[in-house]
Amino acid sequence: MAEALWNYKIKCPFCGTQFETTRMRNSAIRVKEQETDFSNIFEGECPYLYAVTVCPTCTFAAKNTDFEKIRVQAEAKIMAASKQLRASTRPKPDIFGLGPSTPEIAVKRYELVIAFYKMRYVVELGVLANMYLQLVWLYRLMKNKEKEQLALAQAAAAYENYLAKAYNLPESLGEPGIIYLIGDMYRRMEKYKEACRFFEQALASKEIKDYPKIADMIRDMMMMTKEKVQKTAEA
Ligand SMILES: [Zn+2]
Repeated sequence: MAEALWNYKIKCPFCGTQFETTRMRNSAIRVKEQETDFSNIFEGECPYLYAVTVCPTCTFAAKNTDFEKIRVQAEAKIMAASKQLRASTRPKPDIFGLGPSTPEIAVKRYELVIAFYKMRYVVELGVLANMYLQLVWLYRLMKNKEKEQLALAQAAAAYENYLAKAYNLPESLGEPGIIYLIGDMYRRMEKYKEACRFFEQALASKEIKDYPKIADMIRDMMMMTKEKVQKTAEA
């Protein structure tokens, strides 16, 4: 079997630097199980550590799938930041090593992606929300409960903003899936009443008939969470 990791040669669209970045082969991804917030648990290497690319010269960062596709002409703010960062003498973070990575390094790389995505000409709220959720998953990998809770609050807020403003929700989850996901984040923050409210809202969605699997999942989670609400009330 081919090695799971390989180095890809790429050019930064903003500063023109050619560099290598480590990626993980799709064929090497082994999903063991899925968590209630759709995070996967993997056997072997974790693809979340290799999903974003960062330029070592100007620190421009994006998801692997976006890095080369981004339209430079449209992104004046990023170009200005790239120029400024290239000229800066401040030491760059130590996140450009090749080969096996760690969740700690991945967190720093994702934080850069979030900072650059916020500068984009059109801020894609769903992508941004998903980046915050990725941070939650990385802190969980690090077993850093405190940081995971902080990231959960940010991710929930980002998804609520997305839900309020977005007209095109991802087809795989639809409206019920996104509302459920927000509910699950509140459940993980031990805000059980809020969680139940979102689960109920998800089940009341007009689209729920198109998502029978998600509907089953929501009903199970709602039962579990209602028990928690009762226990908290009794205590
Ligand atoms: Zn660059």
